[in-house]
Amino acid sequence: MTAQSLASGSSGNSILVRNERDSVLIDAGIGIKKLTSGLLQAGVNPTDLSAILITHEHGDHITGAVRMARRYRVLLVSNAPTLANISGAGSVPHKILEPGEEMVVGSLSIRPFPVSHDATCPVGYTIKCSSGATIVSATDTGKLTPQIRNEAETADLLIIESNHDVGMVVSGPYPWHLKRRILGDWGHLSNDTTARLLLDLAESGRKRTVWLAHLSKTNNTPRLAMSTAQKTLSQHIGSTITLGVALRDIPSLNWQQGHTLFQLSLFSPAVPD
Ligand SMILES: [Zn+2]
Ligand SMILES: [Zn+2]
Repeated sequence: MTAQSLASGSSGNSILVRNERDSVLIDAGIGIKKLTSGLLQAGVNPTDLSAILITHEHGDHITGAVRMARRYRVLLVSNAPTLANISGAGSVPHKILEPGEEMVVGSLSIRPFPVSHDATCPVGYTIKCSSGATIVSATDTGKLTPQIRNEAETADLLIIESNHDVGMVVSGPYPWHLKRRILGDWGHLSNDTTARLLLDLAESGRKRTVWLAHLSKTNNTPRLAMSTAQKTLSQHIGSTITLGVALRDIPSLNWQQGHTLFQLSLFSPAVPD
């Protein structure tokens, strides 16, 4: 099983997950042109996609979803309340998958789980491959529920939100109601909260890769998200976690079961703040 980040952040999200036979997208929150070129670059013909798994109805997760589903006859998958909140979803191939239910696509088994966010019925996804690998994606959540922690523990690749630095939100330009939303239980995860989760995960000694995802453009930088996680993880001697930061507007990280294909260096001048 492999995963690739096509885009990640508050201006658009899409993760490609596939094995030799089957491929799915988690969210399609960028335009259809960018999605199509990202897929082709990754060697996937959009018509071969089995499903687009939607986490929630915010624009940064669904911008290209209905058009992708219509143009390439791809199945749009989410829970009933979320699909009901996506304009046009009823007119394209779609399937209702409620939190806790399982859907099998070839050798991939897909299960949504609830997260805590100000949308109708927001979810993360756990995707298991018959080869034994597990990918867990949880973004857009204001808090780490016990269930999110449990799902995260099963992951070989964990894609977890590291949205903002609390200090940057507090002293930043957003109006107060927006600051309260971001920092609240129905908003987004901070760098510190995510870093503490990673420290807990490191205790298990299990080898895994973690992508820090859904970074805010205004209230975070890739370098800051990475250094916060690294600093916290350094409290655990011999951590077996490999870290990457998913970039906002361009395809960035790749993961392949068994080894890391490509790890961006945050200290390369090519990586923007
Ligand atoms: Zn989002
Ligand atoms: Zn959202």
